[in-house]
Amino acid sequence: MVRVRFAPSPTGYLHIGGLRTALYNYLFAKKMNGIFILRIEDTDRARFVEGAIENLISTLRWAGLDYDEGIDKDGGFAPYMQSQRLDIYQKHIQDLLGNKKAYYCFCEQARLTSLREEQSKLGHQPKYDKHCLKLTDTEIQNNLENKIPFVVRLNVPVSEPIIFFDIVRGDVEFNSDVLDDQILMKSDGYPTYHLANVVDDHLMEITHVIRGEEWLSSTPKHILLYKFFNWEIPIFAHLPLLLNSDRSKLSKRQGDVAVEDYRAKGYLKEALVNFVGLLGWTAGDDKEYYELDEMINAFSLERVNKSSAVFDVQKLNWLNAEHLRKKPILDLLEMLKVELQKSRFNTKVFSDDYLLKIIDAMLPRVSFTHEFVSTAEYFFDIPNSYDEETIKKRWKSNSAELLLKYLEKIEALNSISKEEFEQALHKTAEENSAKNADLIHPLRLALSGVGGGPGVFDIAVILGLDEVKNRIKIAIQKISNGENK
Ligand code: GLU
Repeated sequence: MVRVRFAPSPTGYLHIGGLRTALYNYLFAKKMNGIFILRIEDTDRARFVEGAIENLISTLRWAGLDYDEGIDKDGGFAPYMQSQRLDIYQKHIQDLLGNKKAYYCFCEQARLTSLREEQSKLGHQPKYDKHCLKLTDTEIQNNLENKIPFVVRLNVPVSEPIIFFDIVRGDVEFNSDVLDDQILMKSDGYPTYHLANVVDDHLMEITHVIRGEEWLSSTPKHILLYKFFNWEIPIFAHLPLLLNSDRSKLSKRQGDVAVEDYRAKGYLKEALVNFVGLLGWTAGDDKEYYELDEMINAFSLERVNKSSAVFDVQKLNWLNAEHLRKKPILDLLEMLKVELQKSRFNTKVFSDDYLLKIIDAMLPRVSFTHEFVSTAEYFFDIPNSYDEETIKKRWKSNSAELLLKYLEKIEALNSISKEEFEQALHKTAEENSAKNADLIHPLRLALSGVGGGPGVFDIAVILGLDEVKNRIKIAIQKISNGENK
């Protein structure tokens, strides 16, 4: 039975990289009919942020990555929050101390600092010098009785090769000499990440550890711990780094990195999840558009790349548009209503029928739901001004007169279709020895205030005959009289 976990530390928001780690764990679990666990790694009290756990959970739920076991879903391995498992870590640290795989260290900060300075001066890698490993049992006992603050360190063996298998990278080898005698238990009685992570992965029967590349250098320490405890080593998969388009590490300085920022900007969860899924994985073909189910089917850890993945916001925007167009029309209707509520048109009432027509006309032209409103405000109100550039280009000396003639033509009709609007325009142009374009552009300006958008007759049909007539009259007055502001 495959059991995987996403193990974030609650230090703030969910990073895009965190979403990718969660997603790959989720995809792998679903694909293998396994269990996806959310474990909260909150042993670093200094970095704990109030509300971060709730935020993580709600963001994962928003993205559709529901976990099978977690702090509010016990699958028989609770608790899933490390701060509630301190007695478990205590027991395990005692085991390591008992067989000298870990040792008490009573060194004061001042000694550690000068040791590090000396080593740096000599050009050596700063490492603890195992000073306290030489303490006798009586010395240790005395120090403990005298309540001298201590940490517990990992007793890293000298010059030993440490080899482990990583699905993404194959066999990875480190020499133990590059490892420091890592602190496993801090003076406040809390374990460090390394101890808690390994103990929990073992006790929670994690089969595959899927996490970001930044943890790769921690893995040899973890391997030592598995060996010292005599535990089976899980399979590792370290996911490639995420980069900005200039190939610097994806960071807040270059743009948004929090999932909630993308959510707030109006990205669809389907698009963001699809996009993040492609940051380091492909099925080996050209396919880029994925529904979550399709991605589960296609996913494999073997096809995760070693090389870093570049965050390409253009691709994300393209995927957003693609996913938007696949949405059921009634979902789009609800989304448009939400956008209207947030807009300056929130006091106006529009019928569903009217809004559905707008969606139909605008869907090929928008990438985000808010663009239904922001790029087509003319559907929700008479233009309060007309684009000056377009006036300069499109409003000729005869435009007002032609529009008046057109007005007369359509006055004669009572209800009107796209074809009738169009025929009336052709007729007007013909009768006045003008080109269709001489009317089409001023008409578009009169109806929408701008130069682009859906076909002008589509706009006219949506607005309806009365509104079209009204807008033509107002435009003639405002533009011809130079009242445009
Ligand atoms: N708590 C670590 C983090 O914040 C977990 C790393 C791991 O998956 O082992 O990402």
